Amino acid sequence: MEFKELASFYEKLEGLSSRLSMIEVMSDLFKRLRYDEVDKVVYMVQGVLAAPYEGVEFGLAVKMAQEAISIATGVSKTDVDTMYKKLGDLGSTAEKLRSVSKLKRMTSSTYTVEMVYNSMLKIAKTSGSGSKGLKIRILAEMLAASTPLECRYLIRYPLGQLRLGAGDYTVLEAFSLAATGSRSSKELLESAYNICSDLGYVAKVLFKDGVEGVGRIKVSLFRPIRPALAERLPTAEQILKKMGGRCAVEQKYDGFRCQVHKKGKQVRIYSRNLEETTSMFPDIVAEAARSIKSDSAIFEGEALAFNEKTEEFMPFQETIQRKRKHGINAMAESMPLHLMAFDLIYDGKSYMERPYSERRKLLEEIVSKDSDRIKLSKMVIIESAERLERFFEDSVGDGLEGIVAKDLSAQYVAGARGFGWIKMKRSYKGELSDTVDLVVLGYYLGKGSRAEFMFGGLLCGVYDKKRDMFETISRIGTGFTEEWMRELREKLSKIRLKSKPARVESLIEPDFWVEPKYVVTVRADEITRSPMHTCGAYKKGTGYALRFPRIIGEEPIRRDKGAEDSTTSVEVIEMFEQQKKVSTKPHP
Ligand code: AMP
Repeated sequence: MEFKELASFYEKLEGLSSRLSMIEVMSDLFKRLRYDEVDKVVYMVQGVLAAPYEGVEFGLAVKMAQEAISIATGVSKTDVDTMYKKLGDLGSTAEKLRSVSKLKRMTSSTYTVEMVYNSMLKIAKTSGSGSKGLKIRILAEMLAASTPLECRYLIRYPLGQLRLGAGDYTVLEAFSLAATGSRSSKELLESAYNICSDLGYVAKVLFKDGVEGVGRIKVSLFRPIRPALAERLPTAEQILKKMGGRCAVEQKYDGFRCQVHKKGKQVRIYSRNLEETTSMFPDIVAEAARSIKSDSAIFEGEALAFNEKTEEFMPFQETIQRKRKHGINAMAESMPLHLMAFDLIYDGKSYMERPYSERRKLLEEIVSKDSDRIKLSKMVIIESAERLERFFEDSVGDGLEGIVAKDLSAQYVAGARGFGWIKMKRSYKGELSDTVDLVVLGYYLGKGSRAEFMFGGLLCGVYDKKRDMFETISRIGTGFTEEWMRELREKLSKIRLKSKPARVESLIEPDFWVEPKYVVTVRADEITRSPMHTCGAYKKGTGYALRFPRIIGEEPIRRDKGAEDSTTSVEVIEMFEQQKKVSTKPHP
């Protein structure tokens, strides 16, 4: 496919305000591709060059893109900058300048999507001295040979400003429609995606070997699996009942989730949102290579700092803070990180479909008893609510967050929140027993003393996974420090949108809409019903809202979660129902 054609698809997608039409347009796009270009185009539509865990970054700054535009159009850098300030978007600036440029298009040959992808990859891979100039030249060369519309996207793509608004699940639905003529294979595609975390790869297999081929995608080393997540229930009785009277209970550690992949001495670690975090954990990497008794394994655990003097685990906030303050290596000595291993996914072959009891047994075999760095999570098997309650109290007494109960016969369900794992956390008086992770959908300008910061609060939402939509749940207007306001304003102004994105449902209009990207962790007193918010209101009318919401944490934006990792509307409804049940009986 010529890049010109892809650019007109981009333009079409940009103008759409409904998710269904987005699926149709994307499906039409995928149908027109050869199977060996489809993976590249999938990355291009998502504004990346590879699956996120590959960590391939363009490394191209706005100033460099401006210089490339200047070279390609013969307009001075100052004039490029002036127009950019006026239009507020460098893609449109390139488009406009290209159309009025006196320099003729340099070649009559047209770029294919493959050529653009390869050049962009070259821009990303070029590093070291002289790389800046080379990156600029590669981009300038493409701009000089392209039409104005192509220029718009040739600039937005490497700057991470495509913002077409298509989430992973929307793309998967479009795959299904393109390959089978219906959206009904979405579930199968989704489970394959949950296993390999690479949309480009799923597309490539699908368009070559069909749905059956995708069904054969297996767990493999150095390709992270989307993590299993826990449901929540408020009391020991309810947990035990749900588990059928007998289950495992583990301590719940509040740190960084790590998925460790090991082959021989080679070790890589991935975060909860599938980014490679190997370099953050040098001590755990070394210890895994040394002490894990398996040649090829994938296992999961929670990393958190341990204070050797007091023999206590440090809470998440402190773990982050110390890492930032003291640097990774210094911290490794003074406040060593421990990895509390809690599940095993692979040991020479996949164990995902095997029951928890079997996976745990294997995990116990491969985690070396003599390691004081990588340890097993504390676990007991219980058969009574009193025993579960006691284990919970002890864990809280040890300064931990709570417990996770585990169904002994449950498989490892990648990418899903299920009742195979049920968490119970300690709660504070007058507060919901759990925090919620909300995606920022828009923001307000300040009034009075806040006008100085141009920041007056956030419009936040939850995720409806089934419909791949974001729904509003709360406006957060208080509790920001000046530093937070500055940071939020700066980050959010960069992802500002002219109108409400297609995947957002809202009755409220903030001063500015933003691309759903950042997640904040929020504590609130209560969930209430509200006609103002669309959370859980799909086809039902009245939504849900938060009472007294406040952002918690060391910094406002969560680094380890993306928009689709935010709390779902289904979870909010469940929490609301639980709150009704326990409101007469406060939890410890
Ligand atoms: P939450 O983030 O509150 O939904 O709780 C689930 C998270 O708890 C998981 O993603 C893990 O990072 C963490 N966790 C801590 N200890 C355990 C454990 N023993 N088993 C499973 N998950 C755990």
